[in-house]
Parts: sequence; C-alpha cells; structure tokens
Amino acid sequence: MTKFIFVTGGVVSGIGKGISAASIGRLLKERGLSVFMQKFDPYLNVDPGTMSPYQHGEVFVTKDGAETDLDLGHYERFIDEELTKRASITTGKVYSRVIAKERRGDYNGATVQVIPHVTNEIKNAVYKAAKESGADIVITEIGGTVGDIESLPFLEAIRQIHSENEKSDVLFVHTVLVPNIPGSDELKTKPTQHSFKELMSNGIKTDVIIVRSNGVVTRDLREKISLFCDVPVEAVIQSTNVDLIYEVPLVFHEQGLDDYILKELELNNQPESNYSWKKMVERFKDIKGEITIGLVGKYVSLHDAYLSVTQALQDAGCENGVDVKIKWINSEEIEEDESILEGLNGIIVPGGFGSRGTEGMIKASKYARENNVPYFGICYGMQIALIDIARNKLGLKGANSTEIDPETSYPVIDLLENQKTVENLGGTLRLGDYDCTIDKDSYVYSLYGEEKIKERHRHRYEFNNSFRGEIRKAGVVFSGINEDKDLVEIIELKDHPHFVACQFHPEFKSRPTKIHPLFNGFIKAAIKNK
Ligand code: GLN
Repeated sequence: MTKFIFVTGGVVSGIGKGISAASIGRLLKERGLSVFMQKFDPYLNVDPGTMSPYQHGEVFVTKDGAETDLDLGHYERFIDEELTKRASITTGKVYSRVIAKERRGDYNGATVQVIPHVTNEIKNAVYKAAKESGADIVITEIGGTVGDIESLPFLEAIRQIHSENEKSDVLFVHTVLVPNIPGSDELKTKPTQHSFKELMSNGIKTDVIIVRSNGVVTRDLREKISLFCDVPVEAVIQSTNVDLIYEVPLVFHEQGLDDYILKELELNNQPESNYSWKKMVERFKDIKGEITIGLVGKYVSLHDAYLSVTQALQDAGCENGVDVKIKWINSEEIEEDESILEGLNGIIVPGGFGSRGTEGMIKASKYARENNVPYFGICYGMQIALIDIARNKLGLKGANSTEIDPETSYPVIDLLENQKTVENLGGTLRLGDYDCTIDKDSYVYSLYGEEKIKERHRHRYEFNNSFRGEIRKAGVVFSGINEDKDLVEIIELKDHPHFVACQFHPEFKSRPTKIHPLFNGFIKAAIKNK
C-alpha cells in the first residue's frame, strides 16, 4: 500500500520547494522506505522540451525519454532512483490526454469538464505512479504557488485523493517564505497565515509547514505559526540557508521531520536513519584543494541551464577531495579573445542547440587538444570536437554540422534519414536510454570498467559515419558505439592526457553518492593537470 505526500508552495516561488521535497524523499529512504517522486507543472506546454533555457533552465531527461523539469534532477540525485515519465506531468499533458479521450468518444457523451475529467486525469497520474513504481511513498510536488489560477485543478485533485484515502495515507507539506523587513529586522508570519488560508479555501489543511527565511525562526515564531495555521509546533520546520543544498535533509532531520512524518503516516516501526547521506556531506565539508574548470556555452549567464552538469562536476570534485570552481565562459567571447581559456585545469563543452557561439566552442576544443588540457565534451561538445578535428587536423575546410551550416561540403555531423522528415519539434529528439558498447582497449573502458552501458540521450544530430575512416586517421578512437544503429556514442583522442566526448548526457546519471565514471575521470585528469 503506497502512501502519498503532497508538497505545495506558498507566498513566493523560488524558495527551494523542489529541494525540500527531494530532502523529504532522502530522509524517508534513509529510514528504509522506497520512494517515487513526481512533479506537477501547471503550465500549458506538454513538456519543457520546447522551452528556451532562459525560460526554464535545464531540461532533465528520464531513462524512458521524458523531457522534464530540472527538479527531477534534484529528486534523482537525492533519492538515488531512476524516475520515469510518470514523474513529470504538466497541464498541457493532462489536457491533451483528456482531449484525445474526448475525440475518441471515451466519455460516452458526457460534457467534459475540469471536475471530474481533468481532476481524474491528475489523480490517475498519482495512482499510476504508485502502482507502477510499487513505492512505499509517492511524493508529489505541485509547481507554482498556491493562489495561482493555473494550479487549481491540481489542488482539487490532491484534495480528492486525501478524502478518498485513509487519513494516515496522505500528508500535506506546505513551504513558505517568512520575510524579514529591512531596517526593523523583524520576521513576518502574515504571508504564511494568508497562504495557509488560501490553501484551506481549496479544502486542504496542511500537516507540515516548512519555513524559509533569512532570519532565525525562533521557538516563539514557530509557536505563532503553529497557532495561526493549526499545526503542532514540531511540524513547523525551518529550512535554514545552507552552503550546500545536500545539507537540507540533515537540517530537516535535526528538527525531527522524518520522525514526525512517519508518526503521521503511521509508519512507526521504521529503522533509525542509516546516515549514509551525512557521510557524503561531511566529505564535502572536508575538501582541501581546488581546481578550475572552464564551462563553455552560450547560456552561461543562466547557470540553471547547466544544473546537472555543474552538480556532477562538484560531486565528482568532492569524491576526489577538491572544490570545483566553475569559470563560466560565454563561447561568443572566445571568438574574439582566446586568452580567456588560459590557466584552466579542464575544459567542458556541454549540450546546446543552434549555431550561435559554436565557432568559439570549436576554438575551445582546438585549444584543449593542442595544449593538452583535459577536455570533456557532452552531446554538442562531442559534435563540436569532431568538427574541430575535421577542420584543424584533417584540413577539411568549412567542415560543420548541418544544424549549423546546412550547405557545408563536409557534414561531419548530420541528421539520420528518419530525422529528416520530422515535422514537430516537441518530443522528436533521440531521447532517453540507449545501449552503448565500449571498446575494451580504450581509455574510456579504464574509467567505466564495463563493456555494456546504457546512457541517456537528448539530441537530433549524429556523427556522420562516412567520415569514420578519415577521423580515425586523425588519432580519434571511437571508444563507444551503439551497435543496434551503428552510431558513435563516445570518442577519445590517442596522445592526449584526457580528451573524451560523448553523444549522451552522463550528467543525468551522476549522483553525489555514485559519481558517473566520465565525470570522475575528467576531474581526476584536471587534478593531475593542476
Ligand atoms: N544540437 C545538437 C543536436 O541536436 C546537440 C544537442 C545537445 O547537445 N543536447 O544533435
């Protein structure tokens, strides 16, 4: 029997609701429970796949190929589970399902309405996640803030789930901001009281309140919130500002949140926490050295666009005892002045789309190659490296990806036939897990230590196999291949301390408790380089 926790947000967005939800997931895992997590986003896009990184930050991809919100990356890193498409639901997805059913005639002539048809579809998404995952607990985060018009159907659906289940099977958590007034230094609980009321007007009485504040939420203040919002004082938890997001589960645990949740859900016989997470956090606190990695991309003004990449770099740094300083390098600036690449311990070119800034990325690859700086190319970063090698080692002038220059005479990166006829942008990339076989004689094999791997993808273009012979002559080893479709998945350079690039996104599979081999290898090489 699965139990349900719903996490809503009040007052303002951006106060770490996703991290709070993920932290609860972590705590419950440490108490021996299996956990599945999902996020409901109230916007009308079917998924965030078509949204600009400026709108949305990173698009996280699940193993079964769903393009999802970046909070899912937090969930996977915190609970160390591979989630599925059931973990990401948007208003757009719900409505397209309802409308498809209406067109098929599935509603037997009924007038199709928000309640019950849309709310039933939302409830199904929760119940299906429970059934398919078989988890003890499903944690569902509702995106946006209580009071938004868009999130009303989601709130109504979770209210119904509460009323159709046992009281001890459903728990509501509400995250709020307690602002402090500049000058008077006073913390104000009024917005929390209003948000509580707003939630009550939707028929939801929260069981736990998580308070984010710049000040110290004293016992007095917690008692006040307890009184006005009708929750016991031990259910008012402060989410203190921490240097490392991974500390949040520990902050909650210190305040007894896991015990409180288990008591409310009548799961009293769970073992004590195993503290595996705490050990990882302590390693982070104990870091001595430091390295600098240049991250070259076109969205570098928006760090969220590379969230899983930077998190994986930092986690791999921690594993190796160094703090990873990221130097954010706008690839367009390299086009003018290459000297910004000097002094780096490693260069990473992560995923990207479109032509802007690509000449600078190609220069970054050339620089790393010629100066023996460890290079790590991810997705676009592999395509970029191959363009650099074709142009600058083989002399194929104007070599390019047809994404950047459709007329190039040397299309080293190109569309596959089945991608040429694609009409819709949404959901038509190569997405999710694909097999890869690693060459046992390669450098990359020494990192993975295994021959058969699965990695997550999100791209449309591929290395053009007709160039394989020539590119091999330039010293490239095709160290990972998808044998089903004969596609190049990983490349490396002979005669270079670390020049590795992959067509997939290893950042989606790296965890603070289980570093991805390619990130581990890259950071080790960067430390050596320093
Ligand atoms: N733009 C490239 C493609 O579509 C790479 C995509 C990526 O880096 N995620 O193939």
